[in-house]
Amino acid sequence: MMIRADTELRCLSGIGPRRAERLAASRLRTVEDLLYVLPMRYEDRRNFARVAELLPGGPDTTLNVEVESSRLIRTRRRGFTIFEARVKDATGKLKVIWYNQPYLERVIQAGKRVVLFGRPVAGRYEAVQLENPDYEYLEGDDAEGVHTGRIVPVYRKLGDLQSRFLRGIFHATLQEMERDSLAPLVPPAIAERRGLIHRWDALHDVHFPPADVTPRKLVERDTPAQRTLAFEEIFLLQLALASRRHGVKHEKRGIAYELPDALRGRLGGVLPFKLTDAQQKVLKEIGADLRSEHPMNRLLQGDVGSGKTAVALLTLLVAVENGYQGALMVPTEILAEQHARNIDRLLQGSGLDCPTALLTGSLRAAERRAALGAIANGEAKLAIGTHALFESGVAFHRLGLAVIDEQHRFGVLQRAALVDKGLRPDVLVMTATPIPRTMALTLYGDLDLSVIDELPPGRTPVTTVVRGEDERDKVYRGVVDQVRRGRQAYVVVPLVEETAKSDLKAATEFADKLRKDVLPDLEIGMLHGRMKGRDKDAVMQRFVAGEIQVLVATTVIEVGVDVPNATVMIVEHAERFGLSQLHQLRGRVGRGSERSYCVLMVGDEEHGREARERLAVMAQTTDGFLIAEKDLEIRGPGMVFGTQQHGLTDLQFIADVLRAPELLDAARAEARAMIEGTEEQQAHAAKILESLSSKWKRR
Ligand code: ADP
Ligand code: MG
Repeated sequence: MMIRADTELRCLSGIGPRRAERLAASRLRTVEDLLYVLPMRYEDRRNFARVAELLPGGPDTTLNVEVESSRLIRTRRRGFTIFEARVKDATGKLKVIWYNQPYLERVIQAGKRVVLFGRPVAGRYEAVQLENPDYEYLEGDDAEGVHTGRIVPVYRKLGDLQSRFLRGIFHATLQEMERDSLAPLVPPAIAERRGLIHRWDALHDVHFPPADVTPRKLVERDTPAQRTLAFEEIFLLQLALASRRHGVKHEKRGIAYELPDALRGRLGGVLPFKLTDAQQKVLKEIGADLRSEHPMNRLLQGDVGSGKTAVALLTLLVAVENGYQGALMVPTEILAEQHARNIDRLLQGSGLDCPTALLTGSLRAAERRAALGAIANGEAKLAIGTHALFESGVAFHRLGLAVIDEQHRFGVLQRAALVDKGLRPDVLVMTATPIPRTMALTLYGDLDLSVIDELPPGRTPVTTVVRGEDERDKVYRGVVDQVRRGRQAYVVVPLVEETAKSDLKAATEFADKLRKDVLPDLEIGMLHGRMKGRDKDAVMQRFVAGEIQVLVATTVIEVGVDVPNATVMIVEHAERFGLSQLHQLRGRVGRGSERSYCVLMVGDEEHGREARERLAVMAQTTDGFLIAEKDLEIRGPGMVFGTQQHGLTDLQFIADVLRAPELLDAARAEARAMIEGTEEQQAHAAKILESLSSKWKRR
């Protein structure tokens, strides 16, 4: 049978209907889907290392050995097992140990030939041994040239399919498939201009790197195959984004607001401070959008505390003063309440007529009905709320402008849902996650970008230190000292999940312990995501009022909470947080003119040293962009930006693109040129997107 890109997996020999069904659950249905399951790493098996050459502490090494004997040792510690194998090659013998993998007894058996991959270490009784290496069988002289004798791909287990099995399937499939059934995704002219290779070649070479490719090039993601696949993916994404943006730009049905001097004057009196240059620059950009009849679609990016909310308020008031409604959508109830309070206060002094409505998930039924009513009949000109704002029961009278705060908490779909509620509302998306420009453009290619790159004057940078268990008493003395000076403190405790009961219990116990044993003279409050909205608000109010001196909280306070009198933040188990998240958390202090402190506590775990090194970045800089870039380097974009929420989990090459921004630039330029090009080019682009959308939808 001739295999084609769209051949169903169940037709492949070795897969069959049962496995195909399981693969379908991972959204893999066709040969093409499967081929995009890329190697997680490669092993250089061109030359196997020889046992006699191994040195303890040497680099990761691949060995081709025969198993002489093996045994499973059950230790006295319950459940703890050691599986030990003696292996040999022509040059010598070696002991190999696997901890807690008793099933290996059935896998690694005397007489078999295995490939081992791991780092040689000094053993207790041996000069050198391997511990917990990866292993793979070689059966007889089988498949020379597929599994050995080359740089081989290593895959993540896919269901119950092991790396070796997958390698075999990939190899056979690529050999037998009709090359041109993989239709080009990028127009030939562009492919040629950018030096791309045929998709079959690209996929083949990514799975089975050709002889002239070095391991180094592979690691740097700099082979023609890798660059081709990365370009294709980014090009398609950019094409989709550019086409959406183009559609919006050229749509004239948006609202053209008026911004006469009189209105500017009135708005100028709302805020009790002078705007920074950066805020003014951004407001100018927004102002141009507002006056134009094209709907605004803008991303406002600014570090924590840079004054985005102030900009948002003025923007919303332009819409309100033009007779439309504005909506401010934020990720947490605490934040919604805080914004509602602050905005009401500012508005009261301003002489503007702008009744607001607060809509969160925890309103009582009557309150909710009142809020919904006011939003629907237009009495409320400004609606402030959480995602409750775009639930289906919410109807706006005349929504003109929506501001979405802290974008990274919202999915693209949610954004669309709110937009659907308006005629064609202008949208301003704000994010405090400092996203490197390349990343921002990749994720939000359909948005225009404004950046507030300056903090309001008078901020003293937060002093950040990393501390261990042995210094805990000293840390608490510091807290007591600050409280004595009339300041307040946060203690942040990590939760794996806001909803995990065991974690919550640990956090509550921690607060109790502080209350009883450690800081008995201080008023200690507790705040976490599982609390009812009303309770959360009550605690927050008491903290704002200074009645609570130490607030033990989970990351619910991460975004936006603004209590300038809080000058100390202790982060427990700081090693469990990403750097960007720590930066967000740290932004809760240093908001007043007082000197502020952030103490990152690291446990005395085995990773203590590594964690300290990583966290040292926090002590060295308060530049959110630098921190985000470091974070990206360490954890990868998926973890940092929660790509799941963006629906971008399937972008496999984002990391590569961040490493090679020129590739992104090229792909974006080509995509834009196509979307804004001749009719013929536009039609071609539409066709590509059309054929794609069904595939992407399926993903
Ligand atoms: P962001 O939303 O960007 O984190 P906020 O808008 O919450 O920042 O502003 C942080 C703090 O700085 C708030 O207390 C706000 O009142 C204050 N602030 C904002 N802009 C200015 C400014 N231009 N001058 C002085 N203080 C400002
Ligand atoms: Mg904010």
